[in-house]
Amino acid sequence: MQLTDCHTHTCISPDSEALLTDMIRKAQDIGLFAYAVTDHVELCRWYPQGYYAALPRNEEDFFDYAARFEQAMAQNAVARELTQGMTFVSGIELGEPDADFGLAASVCEDKRLDFVIASLHELPGKLDFYFLDYAQEDVPALLREYFTELLKIAEWGKFDVLGHITYPLRYIEGDAGIPVDMAQYRDIIAEIFRAVIRQGKGIELNTSGFRQVYGKPFPDAALLRLYRELGGRILTLGSDAHRPEDVGGGIAQGAALAKSVGFDRIAVYRRHDPCYLTI
Ligand SMILES: [Zn+2]
Ligand SMILES: [Zn+2]
Repeated sequence: MQLTDCHTHTCISPDSEALLTDMIRKAQDIGLFAYAVTDHVELCRWYPQGYYAALPRNEEDFFDYAARFEQAMAQNAVARELTQGMTFVSGIELGEPDADFGLAASVCEDKRLDFVIASLHELPGKLDFYFLDYAQEDVPALLREYFTELLKIAEWGKFDVLGHITYPLRYIEGDAGIPVDMAQYRDIIAEIFRAVIRQGKGIELNTSGFRQVYGKPFPDAALLRLYRELGGRILTLGSDAHRPEDVGGGIAQGAALAKSVGFDRIAVYRRHDPCYLTI
């Protein structure tokens, strides 16, 4: 089976210190067929800080992602040269496109991109799910709002795949140990999947959860099966590696899981077009 990792970061992302060359070396060492660099572009902080008349809320609150986007595109051009013999995918992880759908669409149209993962890391007016204190939060209401916002993004539809669906569970069920009854969200998640499918878009199976306390991918097997049953056929695999040792992490396990729920191929994007590899 040809391994693909379509979700990785480098030090252009504020939460990574990884050098591109080290990431590529690992990708080559493990013989990846396709490798995507998808650094963070948080659309809700696209402009410099002054534009928002806001102070950083914590040490990871960076602004001016417009400048980071340019750095990412310059680096992806270098990465393409350094990955001869491997399919290189020039991507970004576009966070919070719901902050400004018009601006988000113009970023997605940039000709230097093969691939855009749309992700939701924080709700309007709140911090990244990473920073929330779940003992103080109304968890069911928070998750309801997460899926409602994700549905808006799915219906907007200018991305290639929707990233790490159920991301907040990493912190809620994983780190905080608060069990969640997912049955109450099944209908809205089905609506999200239908919107993605209707527009010819896909989702990713994000395997980072395998190496976290959570222990499952985003989304898990039950939701992946639901996506498949609703007609979902476009699926990418991504480790969400922020350091070289995690490149390719959980990809074989993710592919086996995808196969177990009925997928016989996974997608890799070139110029926003899915190409398929048998698994
Ligand atoms: Zn993410
Ligand atoms: Zn990521």
